[in-house]
Amino acid sequence: MPIVQQALETVKQRNPNEPAFLQSVTEVLESLRPVLERSKKYKDAKILERIVEPERQLIFRVPWQDDRGEIQVNRGFRFEFNSALGPYKGGLRFHPSVNSDILKFLGFEQVFKNSLTTLPMGGGKGGSDFDPKGKSDNEVMRFCQSFMTELFRHIGSDTDVPAGDIGVGGREIGFLFGQYKRLRNEFTGVLTGKGLNWGGSLIRPEATGYGNVYFAQEMLNARDDSLEGKVCVVSGSGNVAQYTVEKLNQLGAKVVSLSDSNGTIYDKDGIDNEKLAWVMELKNIRRGRIREYAEKFGVDYYDGKRPWGIKGDCAFPSATQNEISGKDAETLLNNGCYLVSEGSNMPTVPAGVDLFIEKKILYAPGKAANAGGVAVSGLEMSQNAMRLNWPRDEVDERLRQIMHAIHKNCYETAEEYGHPGNLVIGANIAGFIKVADSMIDQGLV
Ligand code: NDP
Repeated sequence: MPIVQQALETVKQRNPNEPAFLQSVTEVLESLRPVLERSKKYKDAKILERIVEPERQLIFRVPWQDDRGEIQVNRGFRFEFNSALGPYKGGLRFHPSVNSDILKFLGFEQVFKNSLTTLPMGGGKGGSDFDPKGKSDNEVMRFCQSFMTELFRHIGSDTDVPAGDIGVGGREIGFLFGQYKRLRNEFTGVLTGKGLNWGGSLIRPEATGYGNVYFAQEMLNARDDSLEGKVCVVSGSGNVAQYTVEKLNQLGAKVVSLSDSNGTIYDKDGIDNEKLAWVMELKNIRRGRIREYAEKFGVDYYDGKRPWGIKGDCAFPSATQNEISGKDAETLLNNGCYLVSEGSNMPTVPAGVDLFIEKKILYAPGKAANAGGVAVSGLEMSQNAMRLNWPRDEVDERLRQIMHAIHKNCYETAEEYGHPGNLVIGANIAGFIKVADSMIDQGLV
């Protein structure tokens, strides 16, 4: 049996009922065929079999007390996937849909993404099925303290450095950091996405959204095109979506949509900076629903719908996995969309990805396009290690250079392996080679 198929069979057997993990492993392994054909060393070192298995998996109980004094119990996870390139690095997700399957897919993707950033970071991911929505600040704090009371013994600035993801923003990172510091009695860069007053990096909150837009710019530049005047469809309304809109506005594009898990708003005049400031207040402070935007600004609201039926030149999925179905991908293409740059992780189902590639639109997979977030987390780690802070312009410029380098690497690797323009193959092969070669260098670990 060919090695890719054999490795996939083993993953299926070892991880039954884990469709998201299998989806991400299948996509990566399938696209590695050209590199496996060219070099036998990966087969001999059983790299595929090793790379799909997390180095360590932690699952723990998280008991906490709600405001009524009632005891609640959630499940906490950390998947320390691969440390060939550096300490495990990757976000924490707090969302009721969190389970081993979702975190393993995210941890696996993170290994290749971090490799692409050019920075020394391994891959990991963690989180909990805790839902911060509708909880008071005190409840969120008590949950975070209990979560960290177990996690602290497994992480450290040279071991494993978590960050935010869905449901984990500045507030949660603050509570988690406070508890870590208290338990260890040390102030280190053990988490990224920290507050500016206590070790955070400028541009970290903006990094994933800004980075995704820089990546889109790189793709357009390669075709002598730009974002100026483009109509853009954005999903989500959290951290990634907000800063995607901010950067698109700066570059002269017009963003016409935002969404949350309840529905989508369509603002044909564009979400300008004033309206965006209102959204930030709605989502980050009042923690309200996007429906209120439609009421406030008198625009359309599509209850229970995603934004992919809205006409636009460019799409920036920025909510969650598998949010663009095969049918959605078809609708986007029929409406003239010719650029899809993924802010969220694995937002497009495989049938949609195939369609984008077949139609040769500008398509950037999440592990390349949204790598700006973890890249600036890596820069936050460097600043913490040196105990200094770089100015905003310097971090932004480094982010821009990193996104340029990632695009160049993916673009040239795709060409080198006979699939010009296919950034899925480019990203997977480029990310893989660096990790695989390092694993071989480090012996059987
Ligand atoms: P936030 O929690 O800040 O925002 C998430 C947004 O997506 C919210 O609008 C949320 O709506 C919506 N959403 C979440 N789950 C669903 C769902 N099942 N269906 C529909 N909408 C949903 O998270 P981020 O902005 O940080 O993350 C968004 C995506 O970007 C994720 O895929 C994440 O993995 C990825 N990413 C994030 C990075 C970062 O630095 N933060 C780095 C790289 C990737 P609601 O409020 O209703 O839940």
